[in-house]
Amino acid sequence: MTNKARDLRFIVMGAGMSGILSGIKLREAGFDNVVIYEKAERIGGTWRENTYPGLTCDVPSHSYTYSFEPNPNWSHHLPPGAEIQDYFERITSKYNVDQMIRFNEQIQRCEYNNGRWHIETKNGIKDSADFVIAATGVLHHPRYPDIPGIETFEGALFHSARWDHSVPLDGRRIGIIGNGSTGVQIVSALVPRAGKLCHFQRSPQWIMPVENPAFTEEQKQAFRDDPDLLHSIQNDETLYRNIEAFSRAIVDPDSPEMKGIEQVVLANLENSVENPELRERLRPNYRAACKRLIYSPDFYQAIQHPNAELVTDSIDRIEARGVRTKDGSLHELDLLVLATGFQADKFMRPMEVIGRNGVALNDVWRKGPSAYLAVSIPDFPNLFMLNGPNGPVGNFSLIEIAEAQWHYISQLIELVRKGDCQEVCVKKAALEQFEAERIAAAKKTIFGSGCQSWYLDADGIPATWPWTRSRFTQEMQTPKLEAFELLG
Ligand code: NAP
Repeated sequence: MTNKARDLRFIVMGAGMSGILSGIKLREAGFDNVVIYEKAERIGGTWRENTYPGLTCDVPSHSYTYSFEPNPNWSHHLPPGAEIQDYFERITSKYNVDQMIRFNEQIQRCEYNNGRWHIETKNGIKDSADFVIAATGVLHHPRYPDIPGIETFEGALFHSARWDHSVPLDGRRIGIIGNGSTGVQIVSALVPRAGKLCHFQRSPQWIMPVENPAFTEEQKQAFRDDPDLLHSIQNDETLYRNIEAFSRAIVDPDSPEMKGIEQVVLANLENSVENPELRERLRPNYRAACKRLIYSPDFYQAIQHPNAELVTDSIDRIEARGVRTKDGSLHELDLLVLATGFQADKFMRPMEVIGRNGVALNDVWRKGPSAYLAVSIPDFPNLFMLNGPNGPVGNFSLIEIAEAQWHYISQLIELVRKGDCQEVCVKKAALEQFEAERIAAAKKTIFGSGCQSWYLDADGIPATWPWTRSRFTQEMQTPKLEAFELLG
C-alpha cells in the first residue's frame, strides 16, 4: 500500500446492508480512514425499520447473505426479518465495522469543494473526505396515502415500516391497506390472531407460490460441520439458473420463461381459491410480474380464513371508527395498518447534495433520479452509490447486487489510490447514452406492460435495470474507463 492510499478518507452514508459491506470492503482493501454516518441508533436499514408481523425476505436465506459470510444458522428457507437483522449485527461486530459508525447522525448536507466532500449532520457535526459512498437504501421513506379523514381515526394507525408493538393484535379488528409484498405478509401473519381482519385491496396481485420449510437441526449442524456443503447451498446453481431465467422473463414478456411464470401464478389462483366470486376479485387484469411479483406460501389460505374479509370497494374516507368504502359500508376497526409502500425515488434525499461547480443533485434529478450503471453521476466526482437509481431491484438479492457494484466501484477508487487521477466520475455523454438505451429497453420489459407500481417513474417508465442479471454481472466486472472523467 502506498502512503497515498493511507491518506484517502471515506464517508459512508448509512449503516444498512450496503454501508456495512462498504466498511468491510474498505478495510479489507487497506483503507482505515473510514467513517459511516448512520441516522438511527442501530445498524440494519430496512431490517431495522421493518418489524411487522410476518416480515420475511422472499429471497432464499442462503442467497440473502454476504458471499464471504455464509450463515449455517438460518432457520428457514426464507429468512425472517429479525434473523436478518441479527445476522447484520453479528457481522458488523465481527468485522469491527461498529467502530467506524457514528450513530444518531443524519447527514443533511454534502458538498464537493476543492477536491473533497464536506458533510454536515443535523446535529451540526462537520467532516470531510476524499470519497463518499451513498449507501442510503431504496425503500426508506414511507408513502402515506392521501385518504380523506385519515387524521380522524380514533384507533391505532401506523405505516407498516413504523410498527407500534405496544398495540395489541389478538382478537382485535384489524384493517390492512395495501397488498404489495408487505401487506400480503402482514395479512398472512395476522389473520389467525385477529378477531376480524379487513384487507383493503385497490388492485389484485399475482401470487407466486413458494415453500418455506424450516431447516432441521441436523441440516444446520451439517452446514456448520461442512463448509463445502454451506458453500454449495449458498451458490446453488439451480437457484441462479432460475434467477437468470426470471430476469429473461422480465426483459422479454413474450419469452417462454414468462409464459411459465404466468402458468404457475394462474394455476395458483385457480387451484387455491375455492369461492369463484372471491377468485374473480383476486384476479389481476394485468400481466404477472408487471408489479413486483409476490411470493407467498399462504396468502390465498389466509384470505379465505373465516376471520378475513377482502374489501375491494374503493375507500371513500377514514372516519373515527373505521374505513368507509364507496358502497357506503363502514368497516369498524381497532387498528389500521398502512402497507402503502415507499417513495422509491428519494435515495439520499432530502439530503442536500452539491457537486462540482455548485451543481445541486435536486436539480440534476428534477425529472427523476439517474446514475450511470446505478453508481456514478456526472459532476459528482468521487461519490458512488450502492443500490442507486435504475439498478436491478426486482426479485433479486440486493446483497449480491451491492457486492457486484462494490467490485466495480473499488476499481475506480483504485485509480485514485494509485495516483492515476484525483477525481473520477462518469461523463455526461456516457450517462446520456446509457439512459437512452436503458429507457428504450425498460419500456419493453414486463414492468412497462400496463400496471401501476413503484417501479415506474413520473413518466410511467420503469425505473429499473432492463436487461438480464448476467448482463449486469458482466457490466460490473470492469469499468469501461472511456465512460469516465479522470481528472487531476
Ligand atoms: P408496494 O408494493 O408499493 O405496495 C403498496 C400497496 O399499497 C399496493 O397494494 C397499493 O395499491 C396500495 N396503496 C397505496 N396507496 C393506496 C391508497 N391510497 N389506497 C389504497 N391502496 C393503496 O409496497 P410494499 O408492499 O411495502 O412493498 C414495497 C417493496 O418492498 C416490494 O415491492 C419489495 O421490493 C420490498 N419488500 C420486499 C419484501 C421481501 O420479502 N423481499 C417484503 C416486503 C417488501 P395499488 O397496487 O393499487 O397501487
